[in-house]
Amino acid sequence: MPADGPSPPTPSERLLALDAAHAWHPYTSTIDRDPVYPVRCARGCEIELLDGRRLVDGMSSWWCAIHGYGHPVLDAAARDQLSRMSHVMFGGLTHAPAVDLIERLVSLTPEPLQHVFLCDSGSVSVEVAMKMALQYQQAAGQPSRARFLTPRRGYHGDTFHAMSVCDPQTGMHHLFNRVLPQQLFAPAPAPAFGEPCTDADMAAFSELIERNADQLAAVILEPIVQGAGGMRFYSAEYLARARALCDRHGVLLIADEIATGFGRTGALFACEHADICPDIMTLGKALTGGYLTLAATLATNRVAATISGGEPGVFMHGPTFMGNPLACAVANASIDLLLSEDWRAKIQRIEAGLRQGLNRCRTLPGVVDVRVLGAIGVVEMQTRVAMRDVQRRFVELGVWVRPFGRLIYLMPPFIIDDEQLRRLCDATYRVVEETSGDGH
Ligand SMILES: *Cc1c(COP(=O)(O)O)cnc(C)c1O
Repeated sequence: MPADGPSPPTPSERLLALDAAHAWHPYTSTIDRDPVYPVRCARGCEIELLDGRRLVDGMSSWWCAIHGYGHPVLDAAARDQLSRMSHVMFGGLTHAPAVDLIERLVSLTPEPLQHVFLCDSGSVSVEVAMKMALQYQQAAGQPSRARFLTPRRGYHGDTFHAMSVCDPQTGMHHLFNRVLPQQLFAPAPAPAFGEPCTDADMAAFSELIERNADQLAAVILEPIVQGAGGMRFYSAEYLARARALCDRHGVLLIADEIATGFGRTGALFACEHADICPDIMTLGKALTGGYLTLAATLATNRVAATISGGEPGVFMHGPTFMGNPLACAVANASIDLLLSEDWRAKIQRIEAGLRQGLNRCRTLPGVVDVRVLGAIGVVEMQTRVAMRDVQRRFVELGVWVRPFGRLIYLMPPFIIDDEQLRRLCDATYRVVEETSGDGH
């Protein structure tokens, strides 16, 4: 064997070459490629790269992995269910994992939500919610009510109807305008969380709903926290007033709790901050503790009965993997695990740690705002963050944080310890300091 021949690729090089050739990552180009970091495994609150580096996770894998990675209870639930069946169709069949999950969701969410439609992902649950609203209005004899009103700066997913209610500027409207249904947009909620909301703050929303009531099927919004559209925390009173305006004008309210559900904001569901109940609620992300893809759309008796009493008398949706037993079993274990602990105290500890660790970013040049709610911490910059450079710096500093737009944010797993949380905040401070130092 020649001593000086090219050395064979390492497993990491081979993986990256194949990835570069064929894998299409979220929101990326196949030509001008963003770097990707190969992962060997993930345990607890750490992601281990193929080269052995271990990163403290600040993202919960897009806000899902509330119990961290490789949790023994969730692993056992998956294995246990796998030994019975990983999947059977939900048409004409039913099973304990799905019914147990439905029972839990009905008992944990506000009392009027009594019917649960299980589906595959967050965006699909939003499509299902919007279809429910449309079928409801048709069955109620008001077929002209076929549009949706939503506050700006929202995010509801990447499928077509979900896209149509995402923020028209930061969303994908400009790309798909020819085919997107045209919805109505109210200004983004102005009063921040903890602040009162006045008549003036609601004036534009109120006028839009009043003027267009005969065309409106539903209002859709993310309660309290607008996530991927800008990481904004708004007044609970705004949410209560939106509920009241929907009631006054016969418009349904869809609360998209996909990002906020299961404790993230300090309440089990963000609607609790305003003590309201939506007509339809969507859940996803943390539902399975980040193990498997699963979402749910919940509806009140009134919505379900109206749809079922109308024409054609059935709700027209049915995904292949509806009620997937494996995903449902893990979701049941994840919910039980969350409720078996003092999760409120955990979130409060994280909230305090984020406040303490991130507040000092306020004085750095280029920082517009620092805000914390529950287990969410946000540093808002004046200008767009150079994602590739910033991402690389975070990895060098031993943490996994993925900013978007002008936002560097932390959404750690609830199991994070104080030392890991400090490392996340310190790395964020360092990166923000270096970014501001660039003079951009
Ligand atoms: C992530 C998200 C969605 C979309 O969920 P997917 O599972 O990515 O389809 C919808 N609404 C909100 C509020 C979200 O945060």
